[in-house]
Amino acid sequence: MSASPARPPLTLRMHAQDNVAIVANDGGLPEGTHLPDGIPGAGLVLRDKVPQGHKVALQDIPAGAAVRRYDVPIGFALQHIPAGSWVHERLLALPEARGLEGLPMATRQAAAAEPLSGYSFQGYRNADGSVGTRNILAITTTVQCVAGVVAQAVARIKAELLPLYPNVDDVIGLEHSYGCGVAIDAPDAVIPIRTLKNISLNPNFGGEVMVVSLGCEKLQPNRLLPPGSFPIVDERSADAGPDTICLQDEAHVGFMSMLDDIVASARPHLARLNARRRETVPASELVVGVQCGGSDAFSGVTANPAVGFCADLLVRAGATVMFSENTEVRDAVEQLTSRAATPAVAEAIVRELGWYDRYLERGRVDRAANTTPGNKAGGLANITEKAMGSVVKSGSAAISHVLSPGDKLGRDQRGLVYAATPASDFICGTLQLAAGMNLHVFTTGRGTPYGLAECPVIKVATRTDLARRWHDLMDVNAGRIADGEASIEDMGWALFHLMLDVASGRKTWAEHWKLHNALVLFNPAPVT
Ligand code: CA
Repeated sequence: MSASPARPPLTLRMHAQDNVAIVANDGGLPEGTHLPDGIPGAGLVLRDKVPQGHKVALQDIPAGAAVRRYDVPIGFALQHIPAGSWVHERLLALPEARGLEGLPMATRQAAAAEPLSGYSFQGYRNADGSVGTRNILAITTTVQCVAGVVAQAVARIKAELLPLYPNVDDVIGLEHSYGCGVAIDAPDAVIPIRTLKNISLNPNFGGEVMVVSLGCEKLQPNRLLPPGSFPIVDERSADAGPDTICLQDEAHVGFMSMLDDIVASARPHLARLNARRRETVPASELVVGVQCGGSDAFSGVTANPAVGFCADLLVRAGATVMFSENTEVRDAVEQLTSRAATPAVAEAIVRELGWYDRYLERGRVDRAANTTPGNKAGGLANITEKAMGSVVKSGSAAISHVLSPGDKLGRDQRGLVYAATPASDFICGTLQLAAGMNLHVFTTGRGTPYGLAECPVIKVATRTDLARRWHDLMDVNAGRIADGEASIEDMGWALFHLMLDVASGRKTWAEHWKLHNALVLFNPAPVT
């Protein structure tokens, strides 16, 4: 498939010091292409076919010299690379990870940005002050054993009860693989346990905690949700623990009695949720989790810079923006620690990334285990290049807080937050839900149909070709930036306005098609 480009050859360089640029054209550019005036590499003739998103050498790069993109060395040339060559992953040696000692700590104070006022959305205000963007009954499960029963109960609740409570958007079971067969007293077991607890308290669930337990599991309801850790919304006293249906209860005779009990227990929760109404709340109540998945070389050129611009707008509006994905920020650790608002925040970043380094070492890998075949096919040579494009999602604000995996944001923890999570899409999304996310923004270059039942997900395509083919899965086409049709600022503002609309109830494509990925709890502790 030696495609002749429909558009004139176009290359994109991220920084004037870079010695490579990426090819923007759909289908790439064939060997022998003359790069025209006005683009990086003007006058060069391509020595190889260069696929879309892949790098072309803008000058001769001697063996051992740094290949620079984003003004950082993304690798070192394993052989002499003549100008006009395709700079693919096999020509590059991965740089060493920056050590976590002697980092610049809170040295680069971001200029105080002008507050952005006057923006609002229609949300569900909760008793604790937090705001939901959806009105969902979520049934917490303490253990995987009950998943099949809960799935059937949810189907019955949807069919029999949901039509009676039209202000409730959905009923979902919080299914997961944890709860038993695990070393529950291992130190790291606190992570999956607090994750599950904090997801149950996500603002989109209105404080209505309802639990289905098996009975004999290690993760007992009172261990998951100790009295005092959840809102009391009905007549049950705090001492009684969460509203729990236990399947092994002697009162249950036969499968139908379990289903009947769960369906009946859902009624008062649905009635209270149904009484809620959307009200005008300031944009500062948004808690946005950003992440990327199925990344390509355009992620860091189009979608992630637009998300980063939007992140700055959100921070100026007083909202909360979480960015995550430990292995995809590890190579940018200096950028993060220097951008920390205080030395204590910088130390927390070092603590989290150091913990994750050791977690990976236990499995005898490092951050380089992150990249996928799709990333590489999309032009990302290695984790260093991927990270430089990934961290752009965080914009330019000072980092004001750091969350450990599974922790929940405090009401006063606003601004730009580093929520330390693995980069795995499902685990990152699950941990951001636990942190209190009420809106999710997901950028993708290769394409993923990712979605969550718990929270709306806005998906941003990095390339027009993907947005065209996946026209009913992608909510935003940031590829227009590479096409020269929109600026990063234009796309950032468009995304900001779309977020307010989606937070107010407008459905995303993933919601339209009911695309729901599983919750995946991060469990670094042993199973038994
Ligand atoms: Ca991810």
